[in-house]
Amino acid sequence: MNNQVFWNPVLETLPRETLQQLQLKKFKRIFAWAFTHSKFHRSIYDAAGITPDDIKSLEDIKRIPKVEKSMMRGIQCKDPFPYGDALCVPLEEVSTFRQTSGTTGQPVYQADTWQDWEWWSECWSYVLWSQGYRAKDRVFIPFGYNIFVAFWAGHYAAEKLGCEVVPGGVLDTQSRILKIQELRTTAMMATPTYILRMADVAKNKMGIDRASLSINRITCAGEPGAGIPSTKKRMEDAWGAKVFDHSGATEIGAWSFECESQPCGMHVNEAMFLVEIEDLDTGGIIEEPGKKGKMIITALDRMAQPCIRFDSKDVIEWDSEPCSCGRSFRLIKGGVIGRSDDITKVKGVLLSPGAIEEVVRSINGLGDEFEIVVDKQGDVDRIKLKVELLPGTPRTSIENKLKDRLRLKTNLGYLIEYYDYGSLPRYEVKSKRFKDLRKKSMSEKECRL
Ligand SMILES: [Zn+2]
Repeated sequence: MNNQVFWNPVLETLPRETLQQLQLKKFKRIFAWAFTHSKFHRSIYDAAGITPDDIKSLEDIKRIPKVEKSMMRGIQCKDPFPYGDALCVPLEEVSTFRQTSGTTGQPVYQADTWQDWEWWSECWSYVLWSQGYRAKDRVFIPFGYNIFVAFWAGHYAAEKLGCEVVPGGVLDTQSRILKIQELRTTAMMATPTYILRMADVAKNKMGIDRASLSINRITCAGEPGAGIPSTKKRMEDAWGAKVFDHSGATEIGAWSFECESQPCGMHVNEAMFLVEIEDLDTGGIIEEPGKKGKMIITALDRMAQPCIRFDSKDVIEWDSEPCSCGRSFRLIKGGVIGRSDDITKVKGVLLSPGAIEEVVRSINGLGDEFEIVVDKQGDVDRIKLKVELLPGTPRTSIENKLKDRLRLKTNLGYLIEYYDYGSLPRYEVKSKRFKDLRKKSMSEKECRL
């Protein structure tokens, strides 16, 4: 088993046509299940005049209404409490409560049965196996085990693979680093922000040499960092480890993974999820590689609170090349590029915070932290970029390089503010480095109305 390349050698290498037949079969099953068991789903499908009998091909799926997060917020706290009528099973079958982090508004509750938890850990098993986790690994998980799904299912999947799991829950950063050192753990899962933060604390606060830490593989999730080449390089250099990307979500599941071939992108687990990419302007479905759009996703096997054509707001694009690892699951290029909420127009040009991150992290002499603030000066948009200089780095040595690379990458000019190392906010889980103050003033206005 440990020499096996794939977690599921049959499903991960299915010819595309067979894979699509499987997706259609599973989609019909989950759609009929929700149609029959969820009043919420039934009402939106009735309004659109669609029944399970109408779905005969993948093409037919495009007509099915999408589900937005705001719709899920609208039904919760109603019966069956607290999930509302998207729940497809009796309440007594629910075994786990989770909620979304609420970064974009009121958190959404998520019910899972024991069967759904088995499914979660199966999804994560694909992720970990493809990244080289095996039974010999001792895996450290430095996250606050709580109401957020984060690495819970990663924990169970690592156990399922036979790894030895060290739950690094209620420990501070320094204690976690000491535990990694003491137990010689070989692998770790955390957000890119926290991976960099831990490396910073180990080196600059504790004087610990990375050679004394034996982490050789790291799985990142929660933010796009491991898909941004310069951020990934910083993490790999700081830990002397291979860093892999993964993306999942509370309402969706663990839908993607970067494999050991590190193809600068992630595989979609197409045996368990159906991913469609929607054009941001036309609303049509993008089939071809190289065009960015927003991900609409279906979890094909999740039963208690189904995820059917969910509007994830993640911006992705198909890769034109297959992966050298041999999996037939399609790749998305560069991972999740950003959130459609965050990709905004500044002076008429599309701005992605990920592009700025890529530039900042590519410059030696700048710290890992930065902050982007977009506001208006009079009627004109302005982007303020706050960066930190590492000790001993003269500002003059990087000023022009930073400006030039930003202009080249994003076609925009910036007001750059330089700070001493250690002065910008530090984050333990997900960062809040992008602020669009123009949006805030708009929503304040909307509230008043
Ligand atoms: Zn691959």
